Amino acid sequence: MTNKPQILLVYTGGTIGMVKDYESGALKAFDFSQILERIPELRQLNCDIETISFNKPIDSSNMNTDYFVQIAEIIENSYAKFDGFVVLTGSDTMAYTSSVISFMFENLQKPVIFTGSQLPIGDLRTDAKENLITSIEVACARKNNKPIISEVCLYFEYKLYRANRTTKINAEQFEAFASMNYPPLAESGVHLFFNEQLLYVPKDNSSKLVVRKRLNRNVVILKLFPGITKEVVQSILTIKNLKGVVLETYGAGNAPTEKWFIDLLKQAINNDIRIVNVTQCAGGSVIMGHYETSIKLKKVGVVGGKDITTESAIAKMMYLIGEELSKNEFKAIFETSLRGEISKES
Ligand code: ASP
Repeated sequence: MTNKPQILLVYTGGTIGMVKDYESGALKAFDFSQILERIPELRQLNCDIETISFNKPIDSSNMNTDYFVQIAEIIENSYAKFDGFVVLTGSDTMAYTSSVISFMFENLQKPVIFTGSQLPIGDLRTDAKENLITSIEVACARKNNKPIISEVCLYFEYKLYRANRTTKINAEQFEAFASMNYPPLAESGVHLFFNEQLLYVPKDNSSKLVVRKRLNRNVVILKLFPGITKEVVQSILTIKNLKGVVLETYGAGNAPTEKWFIDLLKQAINNDIRIVNVTQCAGGSVIMGHYETSIKLKKVGVVGGKDITTESAIAKMMYLIGEELSKNEFKAIFETSLRGEISKES
């Protein structure tokens, strides 16, 4: 038996796992079970690494709720055996996927670190090696015989973020993610520095891990824009079986006050559709009732998303609607921070 941390590397797809075929110049997925042969540097890390890969790796644009459950089950089934998990996905939908996984795991006591890269691991100028190596180091990090991280995170370009706070902000630069409403949990320079006061501390070390898998996908993101028509709003709010709407409003949660708009929202809420107000702004918080233009939303029963990201709001909605809560329970729980996705003071 070894005392080294045991790390499970889960490869779902995305650019990070690709190499260039030097004859054709095309990018192709490589056999992830050979990662240690491909990147011998990994052997220098003070841990044992096992890998598991999706049978058919996917571009993260094809991510869906079945794959969310697949990722969650891989972690659940090996939870006892491993000390930490590093999940590789494409960066395009990583903020969504890692947010959903954060809600699916209740009483998580071990690190789950999502990462990927902008350039394939086989590329000369790749960002993949640093992202992968540091993510594994983060997953191994311990203090007083306990993991330093016991939450779902996203590591990219020298920064470790709380996953459910992230947004992909750049399709080109190595710094592809931002966490506008919460500072990085760790930064990698000469040393790996953890901002310990910002980390999520599990409430009770003895609580059993619960994995919530009943995700409801009858949800939609409705982004407002000046000039949006009644027909558009009406047709979205009357989609068959619709259960939840993340309403992307302006600024601090403001929306048109026109009667037709408020009436449509009211009707949808009466039809048992949950509506959550999030801001279109990259940073800041919804404060319902701050302006006249959000008082009406509050009155008809729209739930305040506070400073949650859109990615996290849709993830939390899929999870909470899956739990079949009453209107009041949904509001109370949505407006409470479950996994650090909402700031206390917002
Ligand atoms: N399109 C790729 C994906 O998200 C991009 C990446 O891997 O970063 O799967």
